[in-house]
Amino acid sequence: MKTKQNDLEIISSDIPLQPSEIISKCVVCDCSEFELLYKVRDTNQGVSGQWRLMVCKECGLGVIEPFPSQGQIASFYIDQFYTDDGKRFQGWVENLRGILAWMRGIGLNRVAPVKKGRLLDFGAGAGHFAKVQEARGWEVYSVDPYSSKANSADLCKLDGDRIQLEFSDHYFNVITLWYVIEHLRNPEAAIAEFKRVLKPGGILVLAQQNFASIQARLFGSRWLILDPPRHIWQFNEENLLKLVARYNFKKSAISHSSIELGPFTILQSILNYLVGNENYLFCLLKNGGLRSKGKMNKNIPLGRALASIALGVGLFPFCIIIYFLLLMLGSGDVFTLYLRRE
Ligand SMILES: [Zn+2]
Repeated sequence: MKTKQNDLEIISSDIPLQPSEIISKCVVCDCSEFELLYKVRDTNQGVSGQWRLMVCKECGLGVIEPFPSQGQIASFYIDQFYTDDGKRFQGWVENLRGILAWMRGIGLNRVAPVKKGRLLDFGAGAGHFAKVQEARGWEVYSVDPYSSKANSADLCKLDGDRIQLEFSDHYFNVITLWYVIEHLRNPEAAIAEFKRVLKPGGILVLAQQNFASIQARLFGSRWLILDPPRHIWQFNEENLLKLVARYNFKKSAISHSSIELGPFTILQSILNYLVGNENYLFCLLKNGGLRSKGKMNKNIPLGRALASIALGVGLFPFCIIIYFLLLMLGSGDVFTLYLRRE
């Protein structure tokens, strides 16, 4: 594997980048100086190629280079990413995600000015959150630019890389993006559109991986939720707040906790040192797991699969402890911003 990686590095450094594939200015702070942090490849879905993870010298925003076109982004979400019923993981994991989606609503209830109203879940995926919020009495609309099952094409359109929502101004009380903003080619245009359709005083929820976390620094290119090339951007709290402030969004609350992602991210990132930097355990939990040889885009060697499971079971309690210790230090793998529209 090492040889293959080295080959890729040589090949990619030989290919000159087109001007459109280079970010000349930071979208947050306008700084034109970026430095290479490390080279990355897709260890989750097996999209071929290699990217440079570039970091803005001024604000710490991370972005992949070559910067993908809108057409390329669509190709990163290969068929297997969502199965026919819109679910990404094996049945028991999806059930667990349903419970965790219910918990997300508790956090929202603490800050939302109303307890029932119109909610847009943007990037709804399998629709767990939409379902539980509907049960709580919200009028929920779900759109997902990358899942045909969850998306209603007439509600969300793309004009180039600009999202257009087919709703009138000030339509929603709440808009939620659970791990979505980092996937968008043009996050700033999306935020402008969210401002348009959100009522004054309404809440925008942005949850994403935390590039300033101890975990991100410690695990580097082995960090599970780096997820290139689907994660085009790597935000931290400070630069994301700066970006949304341009559209009159102010921080109402922040949370660093995620029992859903935190302990498992730590576990998989450690396993990436021990078993190979291929996110084997994560891939096993995805729909089909070991049985899906023909279907999965990645074949997992049996020895690596068994080692991942055995070590995973043994190390998971230890990872839960690390997760809570890091949380006490204010470092979560992810952060959720609850933003009020002025
Ligand atoms: Zn910057």
